[in-house]
Order: sequence, then structure tokens, then C-alpha cells
Amino acid sequence: MPHQEPHHGQPLRMRKRGEGGDEIGVMFHDLRITAPQHLPQAAPATPAETATRRLPVCHAMLAWPRTEEDPMSRIATRTIGEADVTILTDGSTDFGAALFPATRPEHITALLERQGIDKIATNFNAVLIRNGGRTVLCDAGPRNLFGPTCGFLPEAMAEAGVAPEDVDVLFATHLHPDHIAGMISAEGAAVFPRAELVVRRDEHGFWSDESQTAPLPDPIPGWAQLARAVLAAYGDRLRLIGPEDAIAPGLTALPLDGHTPGHGGWRLSSGRAQLIHGGDIIHAPALQAIDPEIGIAFDMDMDRARVTRKRLLDELATDGALFTGGHYLRPAFHVAVRDGSGYRLERP
Ligand SMILES: [Zn+2]
Repeated sequence: MPHQEPHHGQPLRMRKRGEGGDEIGVMFHDLRITAPQHLPQAAPATPAETATRRLPVCHAMLAWPRTEEDPMSRIATRTIGEADVTILTDGSTDFGAALFPATRPEHITALLERQGIDKIATNFNAVLIRNGGRTVLCDAGPRNLFGPTCGFLPEAMAEAGVAPEDVDVLFATHLHPDHIAGMISAEGAAVFPRAELVVRRDEHGFWSDESQTAPLPDPIPGWAQLARAVLAAYGDRLRLIGPEDAIAPGLTALPLDGHTPGHGGWRLSSGRAQLIHGGDIIHAPALQAIDPEIGIAFDMDMDRARVTRKRLLDELATDGALFTGGHYLRPAFHVAVRDGSGYRLERP
């Protein structure tokens, strides 16, 4: 029996604040950002507070060790040709089944049971690419907007031996808060003082046009305000590109339609080695890899996002290509292996 219920491909089928009490409402309520000065302020942490703040993440991560060698590490590094690539984990959270509105809850429960897990876990990952004397950071996590289990990008970068001023190029796969809030401080200042911010022209066009974002349901108007605050913080250090343009030497944008108007990943090529970044085609690996039909409410066009997810996973499995993305568990590199009508993510 097909598990997908009929849906109408309407963008942004999100509940408004106050509607219902399910996970979507709660999550979007949490992400209802109005302006940088209203973002949660990071109070100076005492050592005891720091220890407390770390506990939930470490505890959560122990269930999915970040590396076999060191379960508390926030990074995984691999050489791709001449490039050093490091996946950085900013933090983690769990999704409720209501975030997958076109999928029957029993189907979700069955998939989780089959894998012996009881939570829909996700991570927030950024990627550091050191290649040809340039340091590129792809995405920057949600800072502290998702609560105490996130906001650890600075720690992950320190573990990788990179300071904010070392970053030459900052690329945003799209302008959702979980990818760009970490690019500015709570006061709205650029966190990466020298970096050029690279954004796709169509993504920039949508989020910076209030006439497009203001009429849409919450949380989009608030998210757009955050996007505009990030764009303003980088001011004349902003570079707009086309869907398949160069981001940096060896790094080319890869269009992945559906999640946002200008959502995309990238392809890193160095010699014969390649790495693909699949952006946000998957948010919940335990569900959307094994069943790529499953869409998440964050997809602004769920039908197009579903087509993109299925096409990219098919290509990755066919080519045996190494890939990563915004929301895989652990900081890890994967290959997609066909498994029934879906895929299994393996670490080569
Ligand atoms: Zn995301």
C-alpha cells in the first residue's frame, strides 16, 4: 500500500503560530526570528554552565558516535585529491513525525523500528574545504537558535585548527536559519571578518524581496529578516552566482531544486577525486534515504524536492560517488548503496 497520501504540491504548508500544538508549531515557534537584536543572546558562560551546555550534545551524540576513533570529536577530515575536507558538526536535534506531513505516522514508526531506533535524529553540519591556499566554509549552523544542543561550530572549527579570520569564502547552500545564523553574532555582526559570502542569485533574490516573503505564512517572514540581516552584515563582501557557477577553485555550485528557490550543493573536483555536497535533499537520514519519497515540511516545494532527492540519490548510487550534506548524523562522508526501493548510507 502506498504510504504517500495525496497532496497538492502547495509550497509552505506550514502551520501558523498558535495553530495546533504539534511539533511543527513548536519548532516553527522556536524559529520565529524577527530581527537580530531579538535573537537569543549568548550570555557569557561560566565553566559550570559550559559543562552543562555540553552534556545534552555529548549524551545525544553517544548514540551515534561521531567517529569510531573519538566519539566526542565534532569533525571528520578526508583528503579529496589535493583538497583537505573537514565535516564540522554544529549540533543535533530530533524531529517529530509531524514534520513529515505527507507520510503516514505508522510508516515512519515502521521504518524506525526496522532500524532499531526510536528517534528521528538529525545533525547540523558545515564543511570546511582547504584547497589551493584558500579556506572555504560551506554553511555555518544555527548558532543557538535550536537550543543548547547546537551552536558548537566555533568548537568544531577550533578542533580543525581554523579561526574565523582564516575563512576566505563562505558559501550558503541556502538561506534557512540553520545554515546561516552562525554567520552573524547575536548583535548582527559578521562572524567571519575577511570572508566573501557567496550566495546563489535566485536564493538571494527571493529572501531579500519582502514583497515575496512577507505574505507567506510564518515562519518565512521571520526567516527572511534573518537572511537579510546576514546579507547586510557581509555588505559589499557578497558575491552572487548562477546555479552552476564556480564558488572557489575546484568547487562548483550544484543546483538541487525544491527545498528553497535557489537551493543547491556543490561538486569538489581535484584531479580525479570528487566529493558531492547534496545540500538539504535529506534532513532525516533514517527516513529519507531508505524511502526517498518522504518529504519534510521545510521543503518549500515538496514535489520538486522529492524529484531532486530521488534523482541525486540514484546518481550517487550509480556512480558510487562520495558525498556529504547538511543533515547527516555524525560528521561523515558517505556513499549511497541501493537497498530495496531506497538507499542505505555507508561510510566507505
Ligand atoms: Zn537545513
